[in-house]
Amino acid sequence: MAEVLKGKPVADAMKEDLTKRVALLKGRGVSPKLGIIRVGKRPDDLFYEGGAKKTCAGVGMDCEVFEYPEDIDQAAFAKAVTEVGARQDVHGILMFSPLPKHLDERKIRALIPVEKDVDCLTLGGAAKVFTDDATGFPPCTPTACMDMLHHYNIPIKGKKCVVVGRSLVVGKPLAMLLLREHGTVTICHSRTENLPAVCQSAEILIAAVGRAKMIKANFVKPGQIVIDVGINADPDHPGKYCGDVDFAQVEPVVARISPVPAGVGSVTTSVLCKQTIRACEMLNP
Ligand code: NDP
Repeated sequence: MAEVLKGKPVADAMKEDLTKRVALLKGRGVSPKLGIIRVGKRPDDLFYEGGAKKTCAGVGMDCEVFEYPEDIDQAAFAKAVTEVGARQDVHGILMFSPLPKHLDERKIRALIPVEKDVDCLTLGGAAKVFTDDATGFPPCTPTACMDMLHHYNIPIKGKKCVVVGRSLVVGKPLAMLLLREHGTVTICHSRTENLPAVCQSAEILIAAVGRAKMIKANFVKPGQIVIDVGINADPDHPGKYCGDVDFAQVEPVVARISPVPAGVGSVTTSVLCKQTIRACEMLNP
């Protein structure tokens, strides 16, 4: 039986630290605020927004939602994003994507000030992550994976880490963060040959694929640590969701495994708050 690495203890520990930091900032007359930019009312966005608002409130910080109609034009939206970015009282910005197709997302993202880019939406933000500039904010999900590893005292230095997935949102930045901590990193993707064997060679295996229960018993071996980033509709239980790892098959084999739900996903909004508070601290030294 593997040890199950739940997200809640990680989020709870973070909350304690963040609550103290918010109180310190408020004592200096600064109230940290997350600004959420949302176009339209996609259910996934609204769900995440609800979680973010709750987490912000839980640590005593503010959260303001800037909502725009689905048919807003490029010029009006660009003006709005610029205005949110310039707001002195907004320290971190999250913008839901993808934006509606008629909007040029690349140009819009570039309008977010890098110092407030707490989910790594800008090229400047990505450059900081890929050049190990500690003033940058890696995307929240890979940061949540790292926070899970740290919280559970899982050594990274010198360990063979296999990341399945190479997106700019999860796989690539996660690989950079593992490298930064001296992991020996292999990045896999849809063209990787003999994926089960590569996964089996890992000491730390992280799945960020977006394919329900793809990582089966033949991808793992005893002693491994498995972190599951996936959020997928569960084909076996309609209305529920599951990870990229087939938990029922993999859990009996490996040493430690994060579940879905209640794993990495429970840490992400806390990371969003953490990065906003850090942005606020850096903007108000
Ligand atoms: P993307 O679809 O952008 O990327 C998926 C990656 O997986 C790609 O690099 C792709 O390879 C690779 N891949 C797809 N199929 C295979 C395969 N059969 N074998 C090997 N590699 C494969 O997804 P994201 O990175 O955005 O998200 C990954 C997962 O993480 C999703 O389940 C998503 O829902 C979840 N997620 C969870 C979050 C959280 O807070 N917990 C937040 C964000 C995402 P290639 O590049 O070759 O196409």
